[in-house]
Amino acid sequence: MMMKDSLYFEKKTLIAMINIYCESVHGGKLLCDECRELREYAIQRIDRCIFGPGKPACKKCPVHCYSPKRREEIKTVMQFSGPAMVYKHPVLTILHLIKEKKTTQK
Ligand code: SF4
Ligand SMILES: [Zn+2]
Repeated sequence: MMMKDSLYFEKKTLIAMINIYCESVHGGKLLCDECRELREYAIQRIDRCIFGPGKPACKKCPVHCYSPKRREEIKTVMQFSGPAMVYKHPVLTILHLIKEKKTTQK
């Protein structure tokens, strides 16, 4: 297992949010193909991010490397799953909010 850096938590948050979304909206026990593709895409974005480990929150990123389609999709997922994350994954939520705040202050 790799070191648990901020990117590790970012990926965990992303995966958790896509899981919540798919289970609620697409209604399966396993991630559907569509959501699995989105998950792979988003993880690849994080891995290839030009900012490296010091990357900002994607939402606040000046570059935004997502394709317009994927950007819309991930936005929908975040908006839907955000509220549920607070009680399902409180620690990840806090880390996520801290990151967003840091990015805003720059
Ligand atoms: S949107 Fe910005 S911060 Fe997010 S992965 Fe792409 S380049 Fe990095
Ligand atoms: Zn799905």
